[in-house]
Amino acid sequence: MQQPAQGIRHEDMRRNNRRAAMRLLLRHGVLSKSQIARLAGFDPKTAGNVITELAQLGWVKLCGALESKGRGRKGVGVELAADRPWAVGLSVEPERVVGLRVGLTGKILARETKRLKGNDSAQTLEETVLDFARRLARGAARRSCLGLGVVAPGILSEDGRRWLRSVPLPQLVEASIHASLSGAVRAVPVRCEDASRGRAVCEACFGARQRDFVVIDMGKGIGAGFFLNGRLIRGVRGASGEIGHFVVEPGKGRRCGCGNVGCLETIAGYDAIAADYRARAAKPGGKGPARATIETVLRAAQEGDAAARAVLQGAAQVVGRVVANVVNLLDVSVYLHGALCRQSELFVDTVRETAGRHTIATNKPIVQLGAFGDDAAALGAAALMMEEYLL
Ligand SMILES: [Zn+2]
Repeated sequence: MQQPAQGIRHEDMRRNNRRAAMRLLLRHGVLSKSQIARLAGFDPKTAGNVITELAQLGWVKLCGALESKGRGRKGVGVELAADRPWAVGLSVEPERVVGLRVGLTGKILARETKRLKGNDSAQTLEETVLDFARRLARGAARRSCLGLGVVAPGILSEDGRRWLRSVPLPQLVEASIHASLSGAVRAVPVRCEDASRGRAVCEACFGARQRDFVVIDMGKGIGAGFFLNGRLIRGVRGASGEIGHFVVEPGKGRRCGCGNVGCLETIAGYDAIAADYRARAAKPGGKGPARATIETVLRAAQEGDAAARAVLQGAAQVVGRVVANVVNLLDVSVYLHGALCRQSELFVDTVRETAGRHTIATNKPIVQLGAFGDDAAALGAAALMMEEYLL
């Protein structure tokens, strides 16, 4: 690795060497120079150069003498710096925008959040993202900032610079987030991605780091992000993971934002669950929880309200059957994301039980709860810019 192969430029070689050393330090923690040389296949001189370069960038620090195995000699330990390099991750969601500055280990170094009204214009979305990016990337230079990642729900153009369609955030189509960010925060790369795929990248980089899994994100819409054989799946048209538009009840129920009838998210999305509860809990004379939202349903279910529990269980059974179909097809692990899953054990247990009943291979747990809470999408957006070190 230390000898430049024909056609590979010197700078590419140095970058590859830096990446190899950083990946080893991420995996092993503190290492001596000679351990890095041995594990990366560097000669001692190359190892010395790489460590010096990384120390000058402020990406690693030297941390005293390490006992060297065997010959009793002591070597200087090298470990990752706590706060460099970093990336900025921004998540545009139907009800908020969140921005994080994130270190390579997944540590959150700074945060910005703003609540949205739900019907904000494309311009407001764009300005908020721009404002957060400027603040979070302040002082950014190539040496410490690996880039800006932005995630939002929807299908992106082939070049990844625009959202072509978003059911939960239709105004995204009018926004020029990639162009604005690239213009405003120069010197660092910008990348846009679908939100559920961002969550999958978060699980792959900072979570259980499995090679074959799917994240299913329960929310107003329902999306999925697939990792197969260690790689994020985008699909031929960049539209993979649209699990919310699985037709589960053909011809029944409300029309979906996509134009079809019977889609999963019209049965088990937040608005659908709230609407079912309003209908089921209505009392004679039209009295009942007319303004019930998903939060109302979750609260009522926790208090033992039978209608709320029945609505959550009904939605979870439909999701559980879809999960079983996905697992039977691809034999992946499943991570459930979204506030609904974190707040309702009843929902997750019902998904797990239903999926288990309809899955052929049952020798390992199928459904797990994601561990990153509300930050998963923005963490994933930042991780998009750090993939070369983390995957
Ligand atoms: Zn649909």
